[in-house]
Amino acid sequence: MGKITNVKDRLPGPESQRLMAISQQYEARVQGYQAPLVWDHAEGVVVSDVDGNRYIDWTSGVLVTNVGHCHPKLVHAIQEAATKLLNCYEFPTEPRVMLAKRMVEITPPHLDRAFFLTTGSDATEAAMRVVKRHTGRYEIISFYGGFHGRTAEARSAGGLGGVRRGFGPTVPGFIHVPYPYCYRCPFKARPETCGLLCLDYLDTTVHCLSTGSLAGIIVEPYQGSAGFIFPPAGYLKRLEEWVRAQDLVFVLDEVQSSFGRTGKFFAMEWEGLTPDLVCIGKGIGSGMPISALMATSEVLTGLKSGDLGSTLGGSPFSCAAALAVIEIMQEEKLVENAARIGAILQQGLRDIMEHSRYLGDVRGQGMVAGLEFVTDKATREPAPDITVRVISEAAQNGVIVGKVGMYGSVIRVAPPLVMNEEEAHESLEIMEKVILSL
Ligand code: PMP
Repeated sequence: MGKITNVKDRLPGPESQRLMAISQQYEARVQGYQAPLVWDHAEGVVVSDVDGNRYIDWTSGVLVTNVGHCHPKLVHAIQEAATKLLNCYEFPTEPRVMLAKRMVEITPPHLDRAFFLTTGSDATEAAMRVVKRHTGRYEIISFYGGFHGRTAEARSAGGLGGVRRGFGPTVPGFIHVPYPYCYRCPFKARPETCGLLCLDYLDTTVHCLSTGSLAGIIVEPYQGSAGFIFPPAGYLKRLEEWVRAQDLVFVLDEVQSSFGRTGKFFAMEWEGLTPDLVCIGKGIGSGMPISALMATSEVLTGLKSGDLGSTLGGSPFSCAAALAVIEIMQEEKLVENAARIGAILQQGLRDIMEHSRYLGDVRGQGMVAGLEFVTDKATREPAPDITVRVISEAAQNGVIVGKVGMYGSVIRVAPPLVMNEEEAHESLEIMEKVILSL
């Protein structure tokens, strides 16, 4: 066992077993596969389960606790806010207006308005409402593999079978096009030589399928739920140029890529993108329920009172938490830390891939990566069974990971941004042992 982790016996421990049995009996069984343990408390990047085992967290919940679990300054801000004012609906409050000011200050200059909601899905739904209201048109381009939430329009914009299938018709008006999933390119092309063929395909598809009511486009800077698919350098900028040439509203879904995750505060900074609307969630509250829609004043023209709204959106309580998160990120230089520690993780994971029979691809940026497992590196057949083994063996050895991907074959790597070098090396050593013993 390492210095930080300590898993005493075969999982699940007795207390976890007891609680998992109650869960089996009373909870809706809709959760994805997780290691057999019950979380009790966590601090920084270290999670303790109810049996007293300690693990290094490579999940941040689901890319949420960017400032680390239960950061004392965040906990203090929440406690203080809770004693003062929990909710007041649309009245302005000091935390809400100050958070709007801070968000406008930290996002690229063209984004000069903020609106707060509760979840990532709220933010993407709100963005699509703005697109339609602003343009008076209704068609939105979205991507194979895209994930924007489970609510009606978000699900319809999405391109993952698990979200779309079995729930009846989707909302009309979405035109889906392939995202550059270069490891499994549908055109069997290679990023070094293809000249971004998928962008030509996008142009043709839209030309043929649009009814003439094109309004906007919604895209993730990298696709998280589809399996941490990172587009080749330059793709998003070229996409933006195309969007501008068509006079469409550009929506960037940064629900999971923002707040330092990729080694920049916002992923849009990597290529200097200037989206009209940016959806932000997860890390902004680092565990508190808050999301944001950042916008240009221009794209909000035409919106009337009542066009956007949410019962708990922008509550003084959540806004106070988000203000504390921004302060912590800046004081502790967490974006820089994400870039520095992220580079160690990315390199370490690539080294493991070199020696592994089943780890076919490692993709990532900063403190986020996807490990795609295959049954055979030559055929690239997805290996969802292997990811299940990785999850349970990793936990058994002291690291918590999760799985995603359109084929369930990708392990998600997304530790809290406060991770230090020792924690990075210890968890990499554990993962090396787990992956190389498959
Ligand atoms: N957009 C993206 C890119 C996401 O990753 C998610 C959540 N995984 C959402 C939207 C939906 O967020 P929420 O679950 O908070 O509604």
